[in-house]
Amino acid sequence: MVVLLLFYMDEWDLKTLYTCDAVRAFVRRRAMAPLRVLELYSGIGGLHCALRESGLSAVVVAAIDVNTVANAVYAHNFPATSLWAKNIEGLTAHDFDKLHLDMILMSPPCQPFSRTGLKADVADPRSKSFLRFLQILPRMEHKPAYVFLENVVGFESSVARRDFTRTLELCRYTFREFHLSPTTVGVPNSRLRYFLLALLRPRVFTFPASSQMLQTFPPSRDDRDLVESDRDPVAGVGHSSCCEMSNSKNCFDKPGHSEIAVFMEPQNDTALALEKQEPTGSETFNGPRSHSVALYKRETQLELERKRKQEDNSHVRPLLEFLDGGDRGRGIEGYKEENTQRYDGGESLLLPDKVLLRYGDILDIVRPDNRRSMCFTKAYVHYVEGTGSVLQMADNIQLQDVFEGIDHLPEETRMARLRSLRLRYFSPSEICRLHGFFPTFGFPNDVTHRQRYRLLGNSLNVHLVAKLLQLLLDHGEEPCSPSAEGTTAGEEKVT
Ligand code: SAH
Repeated sequence: MVVLLLFYMDEWDLKTLYTCDAVRAFVRRRAMAPLRVLELYSGIGGLHCALRESGLSAVVVAAIDVNTVANAVYAHNFPATSLWAKNIEGLTAHDFDKLHLDMILMSPPCQPFSRTGLKADVADPRSKSFLRFLQILPRMEHKPAYVFLENVVGFESSVARRDFTRTLELCRYTFREFHLSPTTVGVPNSRLRYFLLALLRPRVFTFPASSQMLQTFPPSRDDRDLVESDRDPVAGVGHSSCCEMSNSKNCFDKPGHSEIAVFMEPQNDTALALEKQEPTGSETFNGPRSHSVALYKRETQLELERKRKQEDNSHVRPLLEFLDGGDRGRGIEGYKEENTQRYDGGESLLLPDKVLLRYGDILDIVRPDNRRSMCFTKAYVHYVEGTGSVLQMADNIQLQDVFEGIDHLPEETRMARLRSLRLRYFSPSEICRLHGFFPTFGFPNDVTHRQRYRLLGNSLNVHLVAKLLQLLLDHGEEPCSPSAEGTTAGEEKVT
C-alpha cells in the first residue's frame, strides 16, 4: 500500500512529504543504524530513560559514574548496559574514540554552579572532570554528531559554560541553550534547569539562535508552515491565527524573539515565568516582606498570587495522577485507599511532630488536586526548608483555618491543628513518577529511602529531556535536505 502510494507520487509530492516533520523523523529513525551514545555522569540513568522515551534509534554503549549506590540503581534498571565505575578525570580521547560515538549525554555535577552553593565554578574540585572533558573533546578523532548537557540554572553565567561553548565552537559545533521546567510538559513540578544541545557541523539547527536562553520549545516545522501560509500579506506577520494559537496578549512584544514568541504556548510561558519568580525556600519565608501583608503561614500576597496562577494553569496535570494509588485510573478513590492503608498507622512518610512544630509555618503544603509542587532536592526529608513540597492528606481542611493565629496558641493546641492536616512526604516512587521514569523503574532493596531521595534529587525530568533529544535529532539537519538549506546562511544570526 505504502509502496503503491510512493509509486504514484511525483518528485514534488515526495519532497513535500519529506518536509513534514513527522515523516522525516520516521524515515530517519528507520533508516539509520542505532546511534551510539555515551552517558557521562550517569547517576541512576535519567538520561538513559529519556533516550528510551524519545523513541530515537539509539544504544547506550557506555555509562560512567563514580557513585557506587547510583551505579547499583543504574545496573538494576539497565542490566544490559556497560557501566564503567570510573572517575571521568582519568579518561583519555582514545577511550572515547574507541567507542565510535554519535552522541554524548551528560549531567556534570551541579554543586559548583548552584544558587544555594558557594558558586566556586571551575575552582570547585567537582568541576575537574568536566574540565577534563573539555580537553578531551578537541583531541577526539571521531567527534560525536550530537552533544547534550543538563545542569542547574546558574550554569549559563559560569566560566565553565564559557569554556564549554568556546570548546564547542573550536570543535565546529553549533549549539542552542534552554531554560525549561517540567511544567512546560504538563508535569506539576518545578524543576527549572539549563540545557544545551549541540550539533557537529555541517549539521545545522532549523530554528534560530537566540542571545537569550530559549524558554519554550521551538515550533515544529509543520506548525511553522501552517502559520507561514496564514500570513497576512499586508501586515507581513501572521496575526489573527498566531494570536489565536497563542492566545497571548503580548505575543509579538518580545524584542528580537518574534519568531519564537509567535509560537509561545501561553500556559507554558506563564508557568515558566511564574517559576522564574519562584524564590528558593529560604527566600520564600525569610526574605524581605515589608511591603506585603503577612498572611497565615508567613506567606506574602505575591507568593499566594504565584501559587494561584500556577493552580489556574489547566495545561498542567493535577498531582493526584502522580500519587501512589492515584495513578492507576482509580483517581481519588485509589489514592485514598492506598493512603489509608500505608500512612494512617503513623507510617514513616507522615511528618513527625517535632518537624510539624518547628517547621510547620515554612512547609510548602500541596493537595492531590493541586497542579504544582516545589523542586525535590537531594536533601528532601533530611532538611525541611526549601527541599520540596509535602502532601496534605486531610480533606476539607483549609490551610487558612489551621494557620490563622496559630503562633499565639499553646503548644498542644498548635500541635493538634497541624496534625489535623495529616501531612506526609512524597514517596520516592511518587517523585519517580513526577520525574517521568518508566513505571517499572525501581531501586535495589538495600538502597535506603534517604539514598533514594538523594539520588532522585540529583536526577532530571525524563519527559522534558526526551522532548529535547527529539528536538536535537529532528531539528538538526545535514544541510543537503531542502528545508535545512534555506536556514544555513542565517542560522547563526542571533535573533
Ligand atoms: N543525570 C544523573 C545525575 C547526575 S548527578 C541521573 O539521572 O541520575 C552527577 C553525577 O556525577 C553523580 O551521580 C556523581 O556521582 C557523578 N560524578 C561526579 N563526579 C564524577 C567524576 N569525576 N567521574 C564520574 N562521575 C562523577
